[in-house]
Amino acid sequence: MRSVVPVHSPSLRWVTWYDILVVGGGFGGAFGARELERRLADHGDRILLVSPDNFLLFSPLLPEAASGTIEPRHAVIPLREMLRRTDLLVGEVTAFDAVARTATARSVGGEIHHIEFRSALLSPGSIPTTFPIPGLLDNAVGFKTLADAIWLRNRVLHQLDVAAAEKDRDDRERALTFTFVGGGYAGVEALAELDSLARDAVRRYPSLRPGDFRWVLVEAQDSLLPGLHPRLAKFTERVLRRNGVEVHLGTRLESCENGTVVLSDHTIAPYASGTIVWTAGQRPAPLASSWGLPSTERGSVPVDDHLRVDGHPDIYAVGDFAAVPDPEGGLAPPTAQHALRQARVAAANIAAGLGVGASERFTYRTRGLAVTLGKWQGTAEVGRLTFTGPLAWWMGRSYHLLMMPGIARKSRVVSDWTMSLLFPRDVSQLGSLGTPKPLAPPPE
Ligand SMILES: Cc1cc2nc3c(=O)[nH]c(=O)nc-3n(C[C@H](O)[C@H](O)[C@H](O)COP(=O)(O)OP(=O)(O)OC[C@H]3O[C@@H](n4cnc5c(N)ncnc54)[C@H](O)[C@@H]3O)c2cc1C
Repeated sequence: MRSVVPVHSPSLRWVTWYDILVVGGGFGGAFGARELERRLADHGDRILLVSPDNFLLFSPLLPEAASGTIEPRHAVIPLREMLRRTDLLVGEVTAFDAVARTATARSVGGEIHHIEFRSALLSPGSIPTTFPIPGLLDNAVGFKTLADAIWLRNRVLHQLDVAAAEKDRDDRERALTFTFVGGGYAGVEALAELDSLARDAVRRYPSLRPGDFRWVLVEAQDSLLPGLHPRLAKFTERVLRRNGVEVHLGTRLESCENGTVVLSDHTIAPYASGTIVWTAGQRPAPLASSWGLPSTERGSVPVDDHLRVDGHPDIYAVGDFAAVPDPEGGLAPPTAQHALRQARVAAANIAAGLGVGASERFTYRTRGLAVTLGKWQGTAEVGRLTFTGPLAWWMGRSYHLLMMPGIARKSRVVSDWTMSLLFPRDVSQLGSLGTPKPLAPPPE
């Protein structure tokens, strides 16, 4: 069913025909492709997945990858290991035409591929939401990718070394001040994990004390973790405050030019922050309008309860990119647990369109939420039950482990967790080793 036609043009190299094009190798794309493989095992249909990375990033483990509790490599699943019958093109879809059923992709090597397809599953995810805040783009980093997590871990350890060698008190304070803007799941978990890394690491620095750090969490709403049971949100706030984190609710970042943080609550004096992390939410990948797809005000693509894009019966959208009707009313929240269930339903419906199996509706109801807050601390909500402390921490970990595909990956993560409980944390900072040292020139 596949034709590969080399095209004699300097930019356009290949025209390829596939039964199904999957865009994005995250929770929606990778789990969707895996379900398609399963359903179409005896059918011979061809599936192409286009993803900028050759792995699925298991984002619920990103905060632990940042704190070094698990190896960053263990927070990803290689797509070639997870998918056996899907062709993988590492690159990006740069153009998409839902009516002509064609797409253009640029591979990592820069080659341009023209793809024709019968059905498509779109799951390009989301990007951090930003606002025109003076200094934000130049001084803040996001917390979304594996590179962000690795950078932040190295940053905490680097700032310790900077502070340990610094004689000037103001510069030392600046180095050890970390500001997180956005008290949702990503911000709270990342801050809690990095704080726990810093408290472990500081023991190796005789000239520094845990109290030398200043951790600030800024949240525009009146509560942390919107969507979580208020009792659990309050518990989280108490745990953070008890650990010395300054939590400023109902407060916005006004500016952060040259790393000087100015908050909307003017009772807090502007302060210098060596590291500013922007975790104030995500918005759908901004692709809908340029791809000629319908879009909501937020920029997500509206789909029906079969995950079909409005007006395009053979195009399906899932995950953070899609506005999916929630069976309990409103829209399904942008979480991994929803993206992967939506992907399975969309895959079933694509297979049904190819004559395999029956079509399905998306009826998944949120089972629960868990937030880990560093070693032995967490909150969890399962149905109407709420849990806090070590039990909730363990439940969160177990749930993430259950979601993770493949026994080999699960074992690696469990082994990292066990090691981190038995032995002190590794505090080596390898960030400066990212670029190879140039060779010395030959002697004159
Ligand atoms: C730090 C953090 C922690 C989180 N923790 C949890 C948690 O504990 N539990 C939970 O349920 N959810 C969690 N989430 C949310 C969860 O990660 C997302 O809801 C989920 O990843 C959405 O899946 P997706 O497929 O829509 O997007 P993603 O998983 O982000 O995948 C999208 C993929 O598409 C790729 N892509 C983008 N544009 C293109 C293009 N043009 N061509 C090809 N590929 C493209 C992207 O590079 C990416 O690989 C967390 C998110 C973050 C950032």
